Parts: sequence; C-alpha cells; structure tokens
Amino acid sequence: GDLLGLDNLVANTTYLKAQQIDRKELRKRRLSLTLPKLKKTSALQAAEGERYESLCEQQPIGRKLFQQFLLTSNDQYAAAAEFLDELSKWSFAEDEKREKAKQTILAKFCQPGSTRFLSYFTEEDAETCKDLSDSNFDEVILDHLREATREFLKGRPFSEYLKSQFFYRFLQWKEYERQTITDKYFYEFRTLGKGGFGEVSVCAVQVKHTGQMYACKKLDKRRLKKKGGERMALVEKQILEKVNSLFIVNLAYAYNSRHHLCLVMDLMTGGDLRFHIYDLGKRGIRMERVVYYTAQITSGLLHLHNMGIVYRDMKPENVLLDGKGQCRLSDLGLAVELSKGKMICQKVSAGTTGYMAPEVLKQEYYRYSVDWWSLGCSIYEMVAARLPFRDFREKVQNDEVTRRTLEDECKFEHKSFDAPTKDIISRFLKKRVARRFGCQNGTRKGDDPRSHEFFNSINFHRLEAGLLEAPWVPKPDVVYAKDADEFKDSSDIKDVKFDTKDEKFFREFSTGAVSVQWQKEMIDSGVFDELNSTTVIQRDRETPFF
Ligand code: ADP
Ligand code: MG
Ligand code: MG
Repeated sequence: GDLLGLDNLVANTTYLKAQQIDRKELRKRRLSLTLPKLKKTSALQAAEGERYESLCEQQPIGRKLFQQFLLTSNDQYAAAAEFLDELSKWSFAEDEKREKAKQTILAKFCQPGSTRFLSYFTEEDAETCKDLSDSNFDEVILDHLREATREFLKGRPFSEYLKSQFFYRFLQWKEYERQTITDKYFYEFRTLGKGGFGEVSVCAVQVKHTGQMYACKKLDKRRLKKKGGERMALVEKQILEKVNSLFIVNLAYAYNSRHHLCLVMDLMTGGDLRFHIYDLGKRGIRMERVVYYTAQITSGLLHLHNMGIVYRDMKPENVLLDGKGQCRLSDLGLAVELSKGKMICQKVSAGTTGYMAPEVLKQEYYRYSVDWWSLGCSIYEMVAARLPFRDFREKVQNDEVTRRTLEDECKFEHKSFDAPTKDIISRFLKKRVARRFGCQNGTRKGDDPRSHEFFNSINFHRLEAGLLEAPWVPKPDVVYAKDADEFKDSSDIKDVKFDTKDEKFFREFSTGAVSVQWQKEMIDSGVFDELNSTTVIQRDRETPFF
C-alpha cells in the first residue's frame, strides 16, 4: 500500500532526528526528577558484602562519589585520589606526552617535601621512587605504586567512606537504579533487523528522560515457549551482562513487556556486515576494512574464549558497526559457557549452514575451534561475497553444503584474494582441529591468530585500547538497514498459554538496569550532576550512616 515509500521515509527521518537530541529541552522535562529517599533495609542489603573493587572502582557512580569523598576529606586522601588519576592519564598518554606526565607525577607525589607526598608509601616504596628518576620508569614500578595506593584506600578511607554522606548518596542512586523497567521507559523507533526464526525483532529505542539511544532486541514470548527457547534466551542475557569488551555489544537493560522479553543493548547504527557485503551496490568489502574488522572480531573471540565461552554463531550478519565504524560481536544466543575441560557434543548441530565446522557437522566433541573455522568462512565471504562452500544465492541442499565442507578443498577464484589472506583463511579452514590455526591451546608458538602477517598493518595493543581509528565511518544521515517494510511481519501465534513456571522465568529474566551501563548513562547524559545538585541529602537521625 505504500507506493511512494513515504512510511519508510518518515520512519527513517524520525529515527535519525532522535539521535540529534536537544539537551536543553530534555533538561526541562526532568526538572521534577529527584532521587528516591532510602528505604533502609533494601539499600543496605544491596551494598552488603560488596567489595571495594565493585563499589569504588567498577561502578561508575560509585567511583565518582568515592573520589569526591577523598578529594574533600583531607590532604592525604586527596593526594591518593589525584595520584591514581594522574597515573591513568599517564598510561593512556601518547608517546610525546608520556615523559611530561611522568615528571609531573614524580615531582608531585614522590618527593618527601611536596604537599602531595604520599606518606603511606613504605621505605621500600620510597626506594622504588628513586628508581623512577632514572630512565627505567616502567609499567612494573607504576603498577607497584598503584597497588600500594589501592591497599591504603581499602583500609581506613574505605571504611570512613561507608559512613559518609557520599555513600548515603550512592545508596540513593542504587535505589533509583533498581526501578522496574517497562515499555514506558522508552520511545520506540523503526525496526532495524529480524532474526532467523521469526521470534526476534530488533528496533531502535530512546530512554525518555536521558535521550540515550539503544537497540532493543525483542523475543516473542509465545514463539519462544512453543520452540522451547527459554533457556537459550536466559543464557544469552546472562552472558551478555557478564562480558565487558570493546568488541562485544553491551547490555544496558533486561525487562519484559506483555508479549516480549527485551534486551536493550548498544545501538549499532552502522548496520551488520552482511548488509555491507551484499546490499550496498558493489558486492564485497574493501581489503583494508576486511583486515580491520577481522582484527576486532579476533580480539572479541579471544575475549570470549578467555572467559570460557564458545560463540558458535560467527558470521557477518552477527557483526555490527557502530557510528564510528568500529565493530562488535552481537547475538550471543548460541553461545555456551564451558566449565574447565568440558567439551560440547550435540545431536542437533548448532550454528548456521555454510559456517559450521566439520567437527560440528560430524557431531563430534568440540570446544573453541568452531569459532575459528567460522571466522575463516567469514573473512572469505567479506572478500568474495560468497561462502567457501556455497555460491551466492546458490540453490543447494544443506546435505550438499555439508558434503563439500567435509570433503572439498577451498578454492580462491575471486581476484581480491592476496597471499596473506589466502593463507590465513586456509589455516582457519583446516578440517582437522589439531591442524587448525588458533586451536593449539597455547602449546605451539605462532598459534595466536593476531601474529599472522595478514594483520601486519594492525597494532593490536592500540586497537584493544580503542585507540585505532576505523578505515571507514558510516554517514550520519544514512540508515544502514533494509527498509522497515521489507521485514515481514510474522504471523500471530494464539495457542500458547503461560503458567506460573513461565511467569517465574519471565521475572528471572527481567533484572532491569545493568549497573555499569546504567550508571554510565546517568553520568554521560548529565542526570548524575543535575540530581546531585537538586536533591538535598536528608540527614535522617535513624540512618546509621552519620
Ligand atoms: P537472532 O538471534 O534472531 O539472529 P540478532 O541478535 O542477530 O537476532 O538480531 C537480528 C538483526 O538485528 C541483526 O542481524 C542486526 O541486523 C540487527 N541488530 C541486532 N542487534 C542490533 C544492535 N545492537 N544495533 C543495531 N542493529 C542490531
Ligand atoms: Mg543473528
Ligand atoms: Mg541468536
């Protein structure tokens, strides 16, 4: 019915416009917002048993408030806080600025005469400081001093903080963080993608009072139940909230609405790599970009593997680009966490046809090797716009793809394949796990994929610190997704009823805001500063904090 494509145009325009929020307007809308008063028991319970690391380092708001406490308490505490701050500046400084940063640190904190001298340093520490004046001012020594400072802060300063008004304020924020999340918390925009099985659709959303944009992955409850996919949905959510990498999408909220379980994640405005391979005119991706994306994917996979997680769904469609052109792995619906030494073997093979490794197809036991195979297929596809064992749009039975995967050699007919690219793909596509690249469990030198000459142009140290600029940046006025009306509506399912067990599962899934992401959102949007200045701390006599 929409011959002129007007609906689509409107959907795209409102979506793009939402990304350019008017901060003043938003601020007016939140004038009535205040932090909740503490219900004594709940907040105390939340903080109980939490360690220094979580309260004062990992949680962004906790970190800020602890810092404010230190800076306003006494010279000694303030010096410690400033020292940690300058140290982190030093470690991220570019080469030319490092020397100057080092001299500042030395003069300010390590000279016994200075007002900012860290008097909790032991004699041994002081000796170490002398070494610093020489040229061997290195990471090891700094780590030592950083540790000494942390040990100091964990003692008296931390226990005093727990009794201060700053910690009371922190508990108020925790109370606020625990609010129940519903559909009403967000504005909703156009559909950005759909999953393979009809139970998943992803749309853009915006948090009403902060203006923060996210992607919301909605899982249809009834379809999920019919397919028995509940456990997988929960695993996806639990793994997403556990990982913390520049190369994997972050989870910000998990909640449920009447018909859906919802995962609210980083909005990746640059689209998925499948879209970039096939849907933007010239097919395939230029080599410089292929190398860059593969480097980020490799770092993401290594992060998962180091946490004992097998991804199992590596393919271009699941790799997404953000507004700066950096990519992240998404869709952890097939991921599994392995306990030590455990192997997986399944009757029904997990993955997507065309990307599955021989050991999966043969239903053998496997571990991380399957991800490296799929990465080999994905590099091939980015370059050649087809799979190694299946041509683009080829009508072919799954059995035949399986046969080719198990028996055929991979051919490199496309003209863009150069020698290093062919080599790294061939190593990832070794049919025997024992021969495959990345699968030697650290027993063979040169088995780290990052050391391959394919990556000669990449400095992984800087890449993994988020300091390498992307070779290609998405245009801000383009929507990198198929037109919204190209995503078919899936038919309704009516014959599914929920029982108390289902309701219990929905509640278990709906944990609301994820601390680190939510606190970051509060700080970045300015809400943290606003509410701290407008909410008066009520010094309630009965609270044990003062
Ligand atoms: P499924 O598990 O069903 O495969 P996905 O998580 O892969 O679902 O999401 C389906 C599609 O939605 C993706 O291929 C992508 O195009 C889009 N999509 C998913 N997550 C995001 C996101 N965070 N930002 C933007 N688009 C996304
Ligand atoms: Mg997917
Ligand atoms: Mg999935």
